[in-house]
Amino acid sequence: MRILVVEDEKKVAGFIKKGLEEETYAVDIAHDGSEGFYLGKENQYDLIILDWMLPEMDGLEVLQKLRQSGIDTPILLLTAKDSVEDKVAGLNKGADDYLTKPFAFSELLARVRVLLRRGQKETKTTLTLGDLTLDLVSHKVKRGDEDIELTSKEYSLLEYFMRNPGKVLTRTMIAEHVWDYNFDTFTNVIDVYINHLRKKIDKNFSKKLLHTMRGVGYVMKE
Ligand code: CA
Repeated sequence: MRILVVEDEKKVAGFIKKGLEEETYAVDIAHDGSEGFYLGKENQYDLIILDWMLPEMDGLEVLQKLRQSGIDTPILLLTAKDSVEDKVAGLNKGADDYLTKPFAFSELLARVRVLLRRGQKETKTTLTLGDLTLDLVSHKVKRGDEDIELTSKEYSLLEYFMRNPGKVLTRTMIAEHVWDYNFDTFTNVIDVYINHLRKKIDKNFSKKLLHTMRGVGYVMKE
């Protein structure tokens, strides 16, 4: 899952990015409103965390312009404002949720999870494919009764595949959803990670789940 954080305070932005990356999300940061609007419009994010007070263009304007451009990515608005009128203004302009600063990271994370589930139109906390299960909260992965230990990136990759069962995913799609914008898509990093993942989830099992579609990409199916 890839998240855009639009926040001009570098310390706050860095704190959010670090925390979310530890939770296996890929995170891009925009430091002002125009950059936030540009990135939010051009890239496919699963969630946008948007500060209200921003240079260039404030959060409400970014929100309004994104919605006018047809971007329906869930948006969590961050602000120091906590009056009822301000909250109503934010929600009326198309924000999906609201968090008042200062906040505890655990609360931000809980809201992020709820919004991502809503974006996927699902309420479950476990993804399943055949005998492979992935717990979205504890990040535990199992095949049958066997625990599978994954690195953070392998987990993100698997989560993306399990959210799109039976769908062929190209390297570009994988790069856009699992890596941040500093990622160089011309390297073979994705193939390397896929091989690591395949060793862990498929190698010791007779039924293979992760398949290569030559020249196209990869698909996960039973
Ligand atoms: Ca700010």
